[in-house]
Amino acid sequence: MTMPLFGTLCVIGPGLIGSSVLRRLRAHLGLVDRLVVADRDPAVLERIRELDLGDIVTDDMQKAVENADCVMLCVPVGAIASVAAGILPHMKPGAILTDVGSTRRSVVEALTPHLRDDIAYVPAHPMAGTEHSGPDAGFATLFEDRWCLLTPSGDAPQEAIDRIADFWRAMGARIRIMDTDHHDTICAMVSHLPHLIAFTICGTADTLAEDMRAEVLDFAASGFRDFTRIAASDPTMWRDIFLNNSDALLSVLDRFSQDAAAMAEAIRKGDEKTIVETISRGRRIRRSLIENRQA
Ligand code: NAP
Repeated sequence: MTMPLFGTLCVIGPGLIGSSVLRRLRAHLGLVDRLVVADRDPAVLERIRELDLGDIVTDDMQKAVENADCVMLCVPVGAIASVAAGILPHMKPGAILTDVGSTRRSVVEALTPHLRDDIAYVPAHPMAGTEHSGPDAGFATLFEDRWCLLTPSGDAPQEAIDRIADFWRAMGARIRIMDTDHHDTICAMVSHLPHLIAFTICGTADTLAEDMRAEVLDFAASGFRDFTRIAASDPTMWRDIFLNNSDALLSVLDRFSQDAAAMAEAIRKGDEKTIVETISRGRRIRRSLIENRQA
């Protein structure tokens, strides 16, 4: 790895993910010479200045990117293509464009028509997050031991892919390179479906009669509590994820609905063997997550 990884890095959208990257860079000096931070919201920019997370902090996207060796888009997936379209004409030749979006195919399809031959685009999705958002939610260790999934197209120069991989290793992440559709299917299963279920369970509890809802909240056992944590996530971000990964998500939801129906049938019939087998699979998965340091 050659230091610094980038002379100038521009982070657009310093929320949970963007501000975690910035904090990590402030904690490990030398990875980047100069940090430019851009956002459309003056209150976010003011907070970034107070936290001293950028050398240049601005709402002027075009000026922010013009000297950057790498521009990292940390905005919701529904905004990535339009923000990219606005800044790409102003980026310097040879620079790298990357993003941290949670879904791939629709983002790449919307962004590709705006790409330039002299700019490498290397999307990277850090599989790390919390239910919180905004510049105060980030922390420097967010990506440690988490996976970062790179989904470069066949046209992306190897040097740019290596650079982005090195960058995320410096963030503490482990790297896996995969194709766009594979990424979207895996994320639909391990992230998007669990969120959909959490939002739905909380919605179901919320529509129960008023007195019953109070008891649900009073006596919430840890199972329900865990769902409420996931369900506290940002509505804009998750609306965009569901709409941008609809095919893969609906396909795993279909599969899940069949499995839930099979479990309901086993309970109805008193089929102890199926019930115990299903629960045991859950335990095995939990154990392997702990062994894999992903718990
Ligand atoms: P966040 O905390 O809400 O931050 C998003 C940032 O983007 C905010 O600074 C927001 O600024 C800005 N933004 C929103 N819409 C914009 C627009 N149309 N144009 C310009 N800026 C805009 O979100 P986050 O959790 O960091 O997520 C950022 C990205 O990371 C998303 O693509 C998400 O899918 C991905 N991601 C999230 C997680 C997670 O668990 N949170 C994990 C991995 C990847 P304003 O104040 O102006 O709205």
